[in-house]
Amino acid sequence: MNNQAPPTKEKQSDGRPRSASKAHVRAAATIAARLTFEGVSRRYGDSYALKNFSLDVAPGEVVCLLGPSGCGKSTSLRVAAGLERPSEGRILINGQEVSGNKTFVPPEKRGIGLMFQDFALFPHLTIVENVAFGLKALPKEDATREALTMLARVGLEGYAESYPHILSGGQQQRVALARAIVPRPSVMLMDEPFSGLDVQLREAMQEETLTLLRETRATSMIVTHHPEEALRLGDRIAVMRKGRIVQVGKAEELYNNPAELFVARLFSEVNEVSYPVFGGEIETPFGRVAVKDSGDGDQVILCLRQQAIHVSSGAKADGLSGRVLHVTFLGDDAWLDVGVAGFDEPLRVRVLQSDAFEKGTEVQVAVDLAKALVFTRSLEAPTSEV
Ligand code: ADP
Repeated sequence: MNNQAPPTKEKQSDGRPRSASKAHVRAAATIAARLTFEGVSRRYGDSYALKNFSLDVAPGEVVCLLGPSGCGKSTSLRVAAGLERPSEGRILINGQEVSGNKTFVPPEKRGIGLMFQDFALFPHLTIVENVAFGLKALPKEDATREALTMLARVGLEGYAESYPHILSGGQQQRVALARAIVPRPSVMLMDEPFSGLDVQLREAMQEETLTLLRETRATSMIVTHHPEEALRLGDRIAVMRKGRIVQVGKAEELYNNPAELFVARLFSEVNEVSYPVFGGEIETPFGRVAVKDSGDGDQVILCLRQQAIHVSSGAKADGLSGRVLHVTFLGDDAWLDVGVAGFDEPLRVRVLQSDAFEKGTEVQVAVDLAKALVFTRSLEAPTSEV
């Protein structure tokens, strides 16, 4: 074995040996399992990292856990993997309790694959030894053969005898993925698996990883704090905040019907204006908006997406009068800060750069109020006792 450059095979433009073509190698499918969290809490001293966390992940489903740092995403994975015990509640795999009041199935018996942000490859083991590491139950030859097949699947069999340090970030990520998947786990838990990669590589690796997860049919939970990543990868997204699930659903459901202002802010850039409720509605310069479940005098927050505000100029333009106060160049797009009659603060609007609005332009501003969101609770309002 050596830790020098890999055997020189004819390379593709991305540096992978040609023999690694994905068309010829497919990962073996696993038997997907249902993963269920039932009212799981995890306490550290007086504070809760997870509080009454319930989630049912269907066999073969990919669920993304999305939320800010410290909201309990990793804790939920660690509890599912059996690296930690819940303080309350149960974890079930295919309906069988693996963590509960009196049950604790150790991690190695749960059929779970884990992948972390730092890839955690063993520097003193070759690439093939790294991948074969999780196959200790097999005779060495069989483990090596399976590891090589999986390496071929991720396009890296030419590096089998090399050591991790010669690999690029994306290649290390592929090795970590191969290592996690080669034992054919029925559940894959991935903690920020793309965070260590630069932006361009990240998108390619997201695509590759998703393809591999679909091929193996492993039930998957992927932790991320990037909303776009969750939108791209998840069959469903569970939004977390302060140890709890705020909302879980398909990307479109979360975008169109966010349960809280917090969720709306994750998926779009919004303008927020506070109004008092009278007679079940609020009166805005653009018109009245009906508000459910609020009494007279309650303050609510009107949320207007930046993309849902239409700015135009010229004789035929329609809407409220406004003036462009500031233009921010964003490449293809631009932000306009528009002073609009009836609003104390400028509205921020996202337009195509090619529309070429200039500072000082008199414009007309229109919104589709049917698409406006109204929230009765602000982000700061307590939503849990965590
Ligand atoms: P996330 O993955 O969303 O960033 P974590 O699950 O890592 O969040 O952490 C959730 C909360 O639990 C944080 O406030 C963190 O400080 C706390 N926490 C996590 N692990 C421990 C631990 N071993 N001891 C004490 N507090 C912890």
